[in-house]
Amino acid sequence: MTAMLEVKNLKVAYGRVRAVKGISFSVEQGQVVTLVGTNGAGKTTTLRTISGLLRPEEGEIWFEGERIDAVPAHEVTTRGLAHSPEGRRIFPRLTVEDNLRLGAFARKDKAGIAQDLERVFDLFEILRARRAQPAGTFSGGEQQMLAIGRAMMSRPKLLMLDEPSMGLSPLMMQRIMSTITELKSEGVTILLVEQNAQAALSLADYGYVLEVGSIVLEDTGAKLLTDDNVRKAYLGED
Ligand code: ATP
Repeated sequence: MTAMLEVKNLKVAYGRVRAVKGISFSVEQGQVVTLVGTNGAGKTTTLRTISGLLRPEEGEIWFEGERIDAVPAHEVTTRGLAHSPEGRRIFPRLTVEDNLRLGAFARKDKAGIAQDLERVFDLFEILRARRAQPAGTFSGGEQQMLAIGRAMMSRPKLLMLDEPSMGLSPLMMQRIMSTITELKSEGVTILLVEQNAQAALSLADYGYVLEVGSIVLEDTGAKLLTDDNVRKAYLGED
């Protein structure tokens, strides 16, 4: 079986600075896979390259058996790969509902869009209550929910989440993590980037540890959680 997403020997540079130094990993259908690592490890760069927002210097990206590393970003979305970016990047002047509807830009099935809008509102009740408000008035956690909801609105086969827990209270983080588990149970494949290794590895089927642009360890989430080096470096233990 070929993987849903396959990244082969990916190298990405900003000018002369190489941020990703030849990484390979894959995501099987139905899995939650996580990339963990500290600031600057290259996690965001990797997701942005998969989405078509950056071009690799070298390497290949395959999605559902087709090569996508030269495909424009909007077409990558149309093919079923959605990206909830770091730093939220929602449209502050647009209402919650308009932000969510933008996530469905490539779809024409009105009934399906209405259904998915309800699904996002069921997951995040606060968004329903404030659907007509400008998104810029929201707290960090609420904007994060909106960004995830917007990515879900394209009804993706593969959902990429960049630091969904960033800036959230422990309670909100719990909420986001259980949303990820719920999406997985609905059959959505997820590539999760997190600095919070504990949370990410606890729910991931498989994980990769990135350090300054290279993968230094990979294993099941459960095994990485109990790995001595991971515990020392990423879980704050002596
Ligand atoms: P973070 O969690 O801080 O976003 P990250 O693992 O996602 O970390 P990246 O954002 O991918 O890491 O950054 C990888 C490296 O590339 C870092 O050294 C960073 O300084 C550099 N970098 C990122 N964006 C740019 C840019 N636009 N121009 C130049 N260098 C960049």
